[in-house]
Amino acid sequence: MPELPEVETMVRGIDPVVRGRQVVAISECPTACKPLTVVPGLPEIQKALVGQTIRAVVRIGKRVVWQMANELTLAIEPRMTGLMLRSDPPDEAHLRLRFDLKLGKARSIVWFWDRRGLGTVKLYQPGEFEQTVIGQLLGTDALSMTASHWQKLCAATDRPIKVLLLDQKRVAGIGNLYASEILHAAQIHPAVPASSLTPKQILELDRFVRSILQTAIEYEGSTLGDGTYRNALNQSGSYQNAHQVYARVGELCQRCGGSIERFVQAQRATFFCPGCQVIGKQRKR
Ligand SMILES: [Zn+2]
Repeated sequence: MPELPEVETMVRGIDPVVRGRQVVAISECPTACKPLTVVPGLPEIQKALVGQTIRAVVRIGKRVVWQMANELTLAIEPRMTGLMLRSDPPDEAHLRLRFDLKLGKARSIVWFWDRRGLGTVKLYQPGEFEQTVIGQLLGTDALSMTASHWQKLCAATDRPIKVLLLDQKRVAGIGNLYASEILHAAQIHPAVPASSLTPKQILELDRFVRSILQTAIEYEGSTLGDGTYRNALNQSGSYQNAHQVYARVGELCQRCGGSIERFVQAQRATFFCPGCQVIGKQRKR
């Protein structure tokens, strides 16, 4: 958490007060928490960005990316509990950075808030972000994948399909929550080797990656029981109400009536329905 839908919601939420604006100041908020990872460092970021104009704010994988008019890039990765906000934060104790922006006489403030403080803020020189992050750390964006791309990706590995979905170098943006939901919708068992998916399952995977992520964006993401994730206006998302399997152990599958189960894959909790996500057997319907 936050995954593609939540980060996309943050980007859309701050866009009206960030795009085309000039950076007036960037300041650290007083906090007793351990410091964030800021690279190369706040003074260097201030020196590079104050006075500069933000050409665009976009989502790249699970990062909020400010593309500056001078070709520098500021990438903010919320990781576990980070938020980009343009209104009052959930609390002041975990406010980390404040960005003062202006457009003519109009002023705006954007905050980076992070409860656990695992988020990162990094400045990249012209061309550096494309080379080091897009070119090396991130695969194709999940929303840009096609069936033939999935076919090639899956054919190339015997790793369990859910583990493949979480591999950001192969496909960018999907995390633990949406991987479970996508595989349930596509009726694919999370442990099935990617290379053994049938052509029909590849088509289902392709279809539900897009439809689940796009629907979750429309609902402004998922706010789980801990309440951490908020949109840019400090409001909850509402896609959690549509979850079919994630964190629903023991509840009944709405498709087949099976009982939702949990197991651990690559150190991450996986949720699935043993009734309609079956390995190596014909499904019931
Ligand atoms: Zn089921």
